[in-house]
Order: sequence, then structure tokens, then C-alpha cells
Amino acid sequence: MTPGNHPIFRKVIPMKEGLVQDLQEIVGEDAVRDDPADLYVYGSDSSVHCALPWAIVRPGTVEEVQEILRYANSNGIPVVTRGAGSGMSGQAVPIQGGIILDMKRLNKILEISPENTYVRVQAGVVDDDLNRALKPYGFMYPPAPASSRIATIGGEIANNASGTRSVKYGATRDCVLGMKVVMADGSLVNLGSTTRVEASGYQVDRLMVGSEGTLGVIVEATMKIVPIPKYRCMGVACFNELEEAGDTISEIIASGTQPSVLELMDNVAITAVNTAIDLGLPDVEALLFIEADGNVKEAVDYEIERMKEIAEKYNAFGIDISYDAEKRTKLFKGRKKLFASLSRYKEGYSCTSLADDMAVPYSRMAEMARKIHDIADRNDVIMTAYGHCGSGCVHTKILMDPTRKEQWEGARNAVREIYEYVRSVGGTTSAEHGIGLSKAPAWKKEKQDSLEIIGAIKKALDPNNILNPGKLQDAPDDWLTATDLRYKAE
Ligand SMILES: Cc1cc2nc3c(=O)[nH]c(=O)nc-3n(C[C@H](O)[C@H](O)[C@H](O)COP(=O)(O)OP(=O)(O)OC[C@H]3O[C@@H](n4cnc5c(N)ncnc54)[C@H](O)[C@@H]3O)c2cc1C
Repeated sequence: MTPGNHPIFRKVIPMKEGLVQDLQEIVGEDAVRDDPADLYVYGSDSSVHCALPWAIVRPGTVEEVQEILRYANSNGIPVVTRGAGSGMSGQAVPIQGGIILDMKRLNKILEISPENTYVRVQAGVVDDDLNRALKPYGFMYPPAPASSRIATIGGEIANNASGTRSVKYGATRDCVLGMKVVMADGSLVNLGSTTRVEASGYQVDRLMVGSEGTLGVIVEATMKIVPIPKYRCMGVACFNELEEAGDTISEIIASGTQPSVLELMDNVAITAVNTAIDLGLPDVEALLFIEADGNVKEAVDYEIERMKEIAEKYNAFGIDISYDAEKRTKLFKGRKKLFASLSRYKEGYSCTSLADDMAVPYSRMAEMARKIHDIADRNDVIMTAYGHCGSGCVHTKILMDPTRKEQWEGARNAVREIYEYVRSVGGTTSAEHGIGLSKAPAWKKEKQDSLEIIGAIKKALDPNNILNPGKLQDAPDDWLTATDLRYKAE
């Protein structure tokens, strides 16, 4: 894959001679990779974007991270920090070349403190591993992104990930108490605290949340944990109209009812999951997954009953409510495997995350879900509406035949139309999956009033622009993929 002459790659600087040997001196021979197969794998994440790095380095200590950054900063070498590479928007794609800083070896759980309701971890700890370690203490780390099996806590902070339980327990931002960060010049700083409140001064730790590796390398984090509730009751409600499911969501939230899960799946999503893993979900226009949790069964019953009543007001049927943990796990499996299942929806079609995880005001939820399908039809691609709608997100994915040039054109138009609509109703470009490359053009339009401030912060913290350069305010106004490159060359 040659970068070619597209503006996205114009800033690529030549690789520093002796880079691999220099890095090996810092971390040892085995912790540096530069063979083509590894470079190719690390050149992409879970998005459609790809650009080759020069080398991959896997530090085993915080001191090694500091040393690598000192070296990169003094030589002007781009550093793209990487957790699991599960980002869907190209956040970890090294579009200006440079080093991939793979954080997976920094994976120790340093302290579990139930009495203070926090956990202290290294950035490379995987979300599910953390929850497995917390379970014997009766605690959980709540956001629960669908990628929890692989996503790292550092990556979740850098993206402000959220998930099925965010409707009640908040997104990653709401769980961050403090962190240790290696800055661009290699210095190590302590940000935030271990307490629940920290009221005064600039909240610099908050700046790191959602910064996509552009301001510093998070090496350690202190995160809020919560006791696992005694009771969880889950239900599935079927709808013949997508809008009715959307209206149910907004009314549940506005009524003051407290769901612990409130998730939407449209018929494209249902069909894809049923095809891929034969879960036997009802073949209806839309499904809502509802859940309430708590320590008092009567209170949980009350919340779930309220949600059921609201759903019925909007013509829900086949509402199946249960405290059965096994049943719940099975249903959640369907939701968690959705992204992987979508490519099975139609033969020859692949799932892309070009337009992905918008958020709109609750009152627009129903309209947004329908809009997604109208836009898809107009542009001859398939799109799906699903997601953690209780927290305000509406996910979509574009399913298309990537070998057909006109499908890319359709996808481009669909992305533009979706984001124009989202902006027009006061929504936002990314609710949780990051900006990266796919969403940068829309995000820059949305944030035009604050781009200068964002640029000034970046300059102050990373004056040599080595940390994930070419992203956020510096990202290209157009995205392109390896396939686009091929078409451009033709
Ligand atoms: C199947 C699937 C389901 C998903 N479901 C959800 C979901 O429900 N909710 C959700 O929010 N997201 C979801 N995602 C997206 C993704 O998993 C999240 O964005 C996650 O937070 C990324 O974590 P990661 O460790 O893979 O980070 P990476 O993809 O490796 O990196 C993402 C960004 O974070 C930066 N970064 C990583 N580690 C650090 C660090 N230590 N310090 C500084 N910067 C760092 C990188 O430079 C990059 O910009 C899903 C992805 C997949 C593939």
C-alpha cells in the first residue's frame, strides 16, 4: 500500500535511520517489531483505514514509555499509542508513519480498593479481565462496551467509551478519578485524584478523556467501581414500527424511570445476529432490550414494570421479562456479537463503520432511526440503526459491496447526509466510537467554534506534534481507504 500523493499522506516524513536499533536499546530486541506482516496488522484498527507504521514497540515499564517518548520527541518521530486496536474510526491508524506504542504489556491491576470504591490499573488492562478480577469482591467496572473482551482501559479513556450500562452508570468519563500520563517530552505527571470529588482548578485529567492519544500516553488510571447489584431483571420488547421503539426510549428516559440497559436493534441488526449465531431473536421491525437492576427486588420490579407499561403504550408486543441470568447472558451475546455479525447480513457485503455512533436529543431518537434507513435507500447501501440508545447514542453501520466503486460513492453521500441531519437537530458526531479519520470531517464542522482552542491546547502539550499527528483538529477534511486509493490510481 503506497500512500500516493493524496493530501492525507503529504506530511509523511522519512523514517529515521537506525530507528529499530535505537528502540531495541530501550526495550530489548524482542519488544520491537518491523516485519511487513506486523506492520500491516498494526497499520489498521477496526475501521476501514490503513497506513503503515515504521515499527511497533511494546514497552514493559512506565520508564520505558518515558524513554521512548523522550527519544521520539527529540527526533520528531510520530508516536501512535495503541491498546487493542478496536477503535472503529481509524484513531490508532498512523497516517504520518512513525512508531506504534503497543500498551498491552502494561496490564497489571495495581490495587483494588472496595472500601474506597476504586481500582488502580495499568493502561493495558483489558476491560473483561478487570471485571473478572473485581467479581470476587462483589464489584464491577460498569460502562460495558460491546468490545470489553479486548478493549483496554487506556483505550477506553482515550475514546471515552460507553456501553450497555452507561444509561445508569455513566460513560468512561464518569468513572475516571485520576491517572498517570507520560507527556510528549517523556515527563510523568499525576492527574486527578483518588477521591470522588475534585472541584477546583482545570480538570486536566478530563482533557485526556477522549483525546485519542494526541495529548499524552495514559499509563495508569484510577477508576470508580460499583457494587454488583443483587437483582437484575431483563426484558425484550418487539415493535412493528421503528419509530415506536424510538418513542419508547425517549419516554422511558423522560419519565424518570431508571433503566440499567436500554438498547435498540432494528431488523437489519436482528437478521444479521440470527444469521451469524442463530440466536432466534424475533423477526420484527425493532427490538428493545430493557433491564433494571438494584438491591431491592420490589424496586427492580417497579422500574421494569414502568418500562413495560411505556413500551405497551407504543404498541410493543411479546414482552418477555425474566430474572434468569442465563437467558440474559445469551441475549447480551447477541448484542455483543452484532458488529461481527453484520457482515453476514448479505452475501458479498461488508460492514463498515464510516458513519457510526451519533447522538441526538432523545426527542429525535425515533426520527433518527427512520432517517438512517431513508438515507440508506436513497444511496443504494444498507444501513442499520441500533445501540445504547438509552444513553442518547444511535449507532449505524453501512453495509456495502466494497468491490464496487459506486457503493463507495453511495457510502460517502450517506455519511454526509447523516451528519448534516445530526448537526441540524443539535446532535453530535461521535457518542463513543471516537473521531479518528472517518468522523473527522463532520466533527471539525461541528466544532468549528472551538477548533482554535483545541489546537492551542495541543500545541501547549505537544509542541513538536509527535502524538498521533494528523488527528482531531489536524485531521484531513476527507477520508479515504485502501480501496479508494486503488480507485484513485486507476
Ligand atoms: C466489536 C466492537 C464493539 C465495540 N463496541 C463499543 C461500545 O459498545 N462502546 C464503545 O464506546 N466503543 C465500542 N467499540 C470501539 C472501541 O472498542 C472503543 O473505542 C475502545 O475504547 C477502544 O479501546 P482500544 O484499547 O482498542 O483502543 P485502540 O483502538 O487501540 O486506540 C483507540 C485510540 O485511543 C488511543 N489510546 C489507546 N490507548 C491509549 C493510552 N494508553 N493512552 C493514550 N491514548 C491511548 C489510541 O491512540 C487511539 O487514538 C467497539 C469496537 C468493536 C470492534
